[in-house]
Amino acid sequence: NSIFAHVVRAPEDPILGVTVAYNKDPSPVKLNCGVGAYRTEDGKPLVLNVVRRAEQKLVNDMSRNKEYLPIVGLADFNKSSAKLIFGADSPVIQENRVTTVQCLSGTGSLRVGGEFLAKHYHQRTIYLPQPTWGNHPKVFTMAGLSIKPYRYYLPATRGLDFQGLLEDLGSAPSGAIVLLHACAHNPTGVDPSPQQWEQIRQLIRSKSLLPFFDSAYQGFASGSLDEDAQAVRMFAADGGELFVGQSYAKNMGLYAERVGALSIVCKTADVASKVESQLKLVIRPMYSSPPIHGASIVATILNDRDLYNDWTIELKGMADRIIRMRQQLFDALRARGTPGDWSHIIKQIGMFTFTGLNPEQVSFMTKEYHIYLTSDGRISMAGLNSKTVPHLADAIHAAVT
Ligand code: PMP
Repeated sequence: NSIFAHVVRAPEDPILGVTVAYNKDPSPVKLNCGVGAYRTEDGKPLVLNVVRRAEQKLVNDMSRNKEYLPIVGLADFNKSSAKLIFGADSPVIQENRVTTVQCLSGTGSLRVGGEFLAKHYHQRTIYLPQPTWGNHPKVFTMAGLSIKPYRYYLPATRGLDFQGLLEDLGSAPSGAIVLLHACAHNPTGVDPSPQQWEQIRQLIRSKSLLPFFDSAYQGFASGSLDEDAQAVRMFAADGGELFVGQSYAKNMGLYAERVGALSIVCKTADVASKVESQLKLVIRPMYSSPPIHGASIVATILNDRDLYNDWTIELKGMADRIIRMRQQLFDALRARGTPGDWSHIIKQIGMFTFTGLNPEQVSFMTKEYHIYLTSDGRISMAGLNSKTVPHLADAIHAAVT
C-alpha cells in the first residue's frame, strides 16, 4: 500500500481545466473560449515576427553563453522593463528609486512581491478586486498575506462599481496593500476612466494604502504601450511608493518563456537598493536565478529601434483584431435579435468579455454547442475569429432564449 494512499485528488484548475475538458471533446465544432492566449484569424497560436528575428540574432551571436544569470536576472532586461512601464524619462528611473528584478512571468512577479511584503511590511492584508484573476487569491495567500475583497464590478450595469470601490478602500486599514489591474481588468474587461483613476490615487495616497499593480496586458488593451501604462505612471508621478508586476506573456506572445519583472518604487535610492538586497533573499531559496532565453528576447527587442517599432505594430495588430472580434460578436447577436443589451461586449477592454452568462447557461453552451469557457461567463475574445463567431453567437442566443 502506498504511503500516499490517503492523498485526495485535487480539482482541476478552474481556468486551465477548461482546456483539459476542451481537449477531451472529439466534436469538430468545438471552441475554446477559456484560456487567455492570442490566436490568429486562422485560429493558430502566434509567434511574433520580432520574436523570431530577435531569436535569430541571439542564435547567431557566438559570444553568448548559458552561464547562470544573477539572482535578479538580466540587467538589460530589468532596465528596459522599468522604462517600458514607467516611461523612459520617469523620475523614478532617473533618481534610481526603483528596483526591478526579473521574475517568472506575471505570476512569479506577484509571488516574489507578495513574499517580500509578508516578510518586510507591517500590513499583511492585501485587498483584491471582486472578481479578479482566479490565481490572485492563491498566489498572495501562499506568499503569506491575508486577502480581502473590495467591490469592483456591478452586474446590473456590467460596469465599474466605483462607489463600492471607494467605500471599501476608504474603510481599509491604513497601510493595507491594494491589488490593482494596470489595464484590461481580468475577467471583467472593465477599467476605471482616467478621472476615476485619479480619484482612486488620491484615496490610496491619503490613506497610505500601498498600491500593487498587476500589469499583464500592457499594449494589449488599447494597442498603445503608453496609454495602457497611464494608471501606473499616474501613481509613480506623485512620488509615492508602489509595486508593479509585469508580464510579457501576452504583449510579446512569450507565454511559455515565463518572462516578467517586479518593480518596487521607493522614496529614495538608498531604500531601493536595500529592498533589492532583500529581494535576492526571497528569490535565491525559491529558484536561485531566472532563465535567460525569454529575457534575452525581450531585451533584444526593447533595445533595438527597428525591432521595437515593429513590435508596437504587431502588438497593435493583435489588439485591433480583438476589438474587431468584439464588434463581430456584438453584430452577430444583434442580427439574431438576441434578447438583452450586449453593448458591454464592445465597451469592455482587453482580452476578455465578461458576458453576464450564468453557470447554467455556460454549461448549456458546453453541452449543446461544445463551447468551453469558465463558469463565470468569461469569454476570451483573442481566441475567436470570423469563422467561429457565428457558432458562438448561436450558442449565446440559444442559452438566453
Ligand atoms: N495577472 C493577470 C490579471 C493575468 O490575466 C495573468 C495571465 N492570465 C497573469 C497575471 C499572469 O500570467 P503569466 O504568469 O503567464 O505572465
